[in-house]
Parts: sequence; structure tokens; C-alpha cells
Amino acid sequence: MTGRTKDGQLGSAVGELIRSVSPQRPADVIGEYPARTPEQVQAAAGQARDSQRDWWRAAAAARSAALSAAAAQLRARRDEAAALITREVGKPAGEAAGEVARSVSILEYYAQACFAELGAHYPPSAVDRGGQAGSSAQGNTGLLYTERRPHGVAGLITPWNFPLAIPLWKAAPALAAGNAVLLKPSPEAAGCAELIGDILGGCLPAGLLTVLPGGAATGAAVVAAADVVSFTGSVQVGRQVAITATGRGVPVQCEMGGQNAAIILPDADPAAAAAMVAGAAMGYAGQKCTATRRIIVVGQQHAFVAALTAAVAALAPADPAEPGTVVGPLITDSARAKVLAAVALAAADGARVLTGGSGPAGDGWFAEPALVDGLPPGHPLCQQETFGPFAVLQHADDVDSAVALANGVEFGLVSSVHGGSLGPLLGAVAGLDTGLIRVNAPTTGVDFYAPFGGEKASGLGHREQGMAALAFYASTRTITIAAGPG
Ligand code: NAD
Repeated sequence: MTGRTKDGQLGSAVGELIRSVSPQRPADVIGEYPARTPEQVQAAAGQARDSQRDWWRAAAAARSAALSAAAAQLRARRDEAAALITREVGKPAGEAAGEVARSVSILEYYAQACFAELGAHYPPSAVDRGGQAGSSAQGNTGLLYTERRPHGVAGLITPWNFPLAIPLWKAAPALAAGNAVLLKPSPEAAGCAELIGDILGGCLPAGLLTVLPGGAATGAAVVAAADVVSFTGSVQVGRQVAITATGRGVPVQCEMGGQNAAIILPDADPAAAAAMVAGAAMGYAGQKCTATRRIIVVGQQHAFVAALTAAVAALAPADPAEPGTVVGPLITDSARAKVLAAVALAAADGARVLTGGSGPAGDGWFAEPALVDGLPPGHPLCQQETFGPFAVLQHADDVDSAVALANGVEFGLVSSVHGGSLGPLLGAVAGLDTGLIRVNAPTTGVDFYAPFGGEKASGLGHREQGMAALAFYASTRTITIAAGPG
């Protein structure tokens, strides 16, 4: 076996030992985990399939009790979980505590969702009885109803940036709907995934949920073994996962990257909008799929641009464990190098670097949040996601051109609009083509009980979260029971 630190590479060879380290102190090793082989994934799928049959046959109350117990366990271990998130992926402590609280709520929500209706009841069908079709008093007897049933084994492939919330917002609805789970976490979040396995494993029947650390080969094996697949991560990998799952004929959903825009209308409060957008762009070092990447200013707004530049400049990177830190490190050295290269490319191509762009010396993969102005809309840095603390300012003459600029990328995850008058705000909402639209609110922030997902290259297949997720992890069959003759 060969060792590997977090290095931003996608794959890991079968038999590799994954080493997860702290991005703020790379010498701090969280743990070492053998990557699971395809044979081990197959064996886990077999156990999951056996266990799933009893899980689905059991009363809904039993499934609910298990998910409630997991919620209680996580709540009891919340400080440990938040500290681990901060240590393993560099998430600022306040946000890490928020992610744990949300994860508890997700488990509680799906514990109750176990009792949701299983289908609908329709007027009975007019059964053809050989010449008596649709006839007689029998038309009002019999039954016609639908029933939601689990697919079987759910294969879940997750990124590192929400190491507790994303695995749980997939696993909890999958389990509530009656499935077993194979969870393939990101190598960069293997320690948090171990905690999930520990907590859920203690509350669920043996073999029902298995955490399978590994890289691309392990992930591919999960896609090959599962009856339903849910992926969150990059566009590049998500499309491959979707092709493979579709080729096997199993349902698949993918949530991927974004190039999210915030539109600043002329009547937005400059100071309030600037503070909100700076946080949405640079918080957690810009490592959220929903982070603001482009800020589109409508008309001349010198006060807003000055306030935004000052707000971003004030967000100096710091130890994420320190209270009050907003910007921690990048997840890997190569992720930091990509941010620094983006700033250098912007400057080389004639943009003004309004603030940031250097990587402070010393331990940890930190980079100063960078804001650049003056790139043409077609420039790769305006079109493609830079997954870090890097945002571009863009300019439009009116609301319609701002919306066209916002929509003019291949992605469609989230956008925000900031202003004071309802008419122009609603006009922008009507024109934007993203899956999530937020008015006078940051692009970041997700409500776990409402549908979540992107349009265009950002999302593929069914929405996640809320009751939408429950529907994805089940198929609906339609049952006709004819009335007896006479
Ligand atoms: P990634 O695509 O590199 O990895 C995601 C997961 O896929 C990991 O578990 C990885 O090991 C696995 N994987 C890699 N190759 C695979 C293969 N060939 N087959 C199966 N699995 C494979 O993404 P990342 O770097 O972990 O996360 C960052 C990306 O995730 C960003 O693009 C971000 O925008 C996106 N993201 C999207 C959302 C959303 O809900 N839209 C949420 C969070 C992150």
C-alpha cells in the first residue's frame, strides 16, 4: 500500500491507503483508511441487500426509531463532531457547529418522514370483464391505488465540503424510504465519514449502511453495485457517474458545481449588500457549491464597489478553530495553487485585482480572498468555477442585461438579487434560470426541508432534500384490484 496526503487528485488506486490530514496543519493526520476494493464493495452490497429486506418489512415505527436514535446520538456528540469537521476540512468553527445542528435536524425530519403517506387512492378502474367493460354497479367497487417502494441499495457518493450534512441528507431519506445504503465519502473527509458510520451503525441493523472509504475506483464500484445512485461533486465526475448509472438502467441524480451570480440593483443598500455578498463569496474560503462567484453591478455604484472591496479585504484567512474566523484554509495545496493561478491569470489578461491574491507563508493552505474587475464575460474565469475565495465583478446597464449576464454560463445552481423595489426584484426572479433564487439573501444557505438542486450543468435528475428526496429513493407502482363478480 502507498500513502497519500490530501493533494486534490481525483482518484486513488485500489489497495491504496488514504491519509486524511488537517488543511490548516498538514502534519496533523486525522486518520489512515484502506481504500475499499471492488470485491469489498460487492460484498457490502450483498449484505446490504439481505439487510434491506427486513428493514423494509419492519414497521415504519422501527425505521423512525432508528433514525431518531441516530439524531439523539449525534446531538450528544455535537461538540466532537463540530471539532472534527473543523480539524479535517478547515471549516470555521461557527459554521461547523451549524452543520452539525442541521445534520441532527435532517435525521429528525426523516425519522418523521417514515410515517408519510405511501401513495394515493384513485376511483376504481372500469375493468373489462369480457363485454362488461365499465359497466354496472361494479364500477364503484374495487381499488386503484399507488404504492411507494424502495429501490433496494442506494449508492451515495459525496464531496468533502459538507462532510456530515451531504452524506446525511442523502442517507436519511434513502433509509426512511426503506433502502439500504452504501456511502462512498470523499477521501478528504474520511474521518467525518467514519463518525457517521459509527453513529448510524450503532442505531441500524447490521449491514444496512456501510461506509466505503476510497477514491475513484471505489466510487465506480459503488455505481456498478447500487440500485439507485446519488452523487454530489464536480461536473466532470458527476457526468461520468450519470452515464454509467443510466447505462445500467438505475435511477441517478447528480448535484454539481456552480458559477453563481449576485445581482446588485441600483437601490440596494450598499453597505448591507456588500457585507452579505462578501460573506457569501468568501466564507469557508469560497468552498461551497452555492458560493457567490460573480457580482453583477447594475449601473454606476461606486459606494457598493468600495464597500465590497473593503469587506473582502477585511476577511483575512485565519485558524478556523478560532471563534470569529470566517475564512479558513483551502482543502489542499493544489486547490490553493488554483486560486493563486486564477488571480495571476486575471491580472495577466488585463483585470484589476481589487484585493487579495497572495498565499500567506507558513503552515496550512491559506489564500487571501481575491476580488477582480474588468474581465470580459466570455473569459474562462467568468465562465468556469474556481472552487475557492475568488470572485469577479461584472457590470450591466439595466436589470435585463444583468439577468442575461447571470444566465450566460453553462451552470445554473443559485443566484441572488439585492435591491429595494419589488418590481425589479420580481422581474429579475422571473428571468433567472437557476434552480435556487434568493432575494436580499446570500447565495449560500440551504433549507433542508425544501427541494434543493441546480439547472443546466449544475444538476441532473431529481431534486434533493425535503419530501422530494423521499420520492427519489422510491419507485411508485400502481395497483388495480377488481371487484369480484356479482
Ligand atoms: P469530486 O467530483 O472531485 O468528488 C466527489 C466524489 O466523487 C468523491 O467522493 C470522489 O472520491 C468521487 N469520485 C471521483 N471520481 C469518481 C469516479 N470516477 N466514479 C465515482 N466516484 C468518483 O468533488 P469534490 O472536489 O469532492 O467537491 C467539490 C465539487 O463539488 C465542486 O465542484 C462543488 O461545486 C461541488 N459541490 C456541489 C454541491 C451541490 O449540491 N451542487 C454541493 C457540494 C459540492
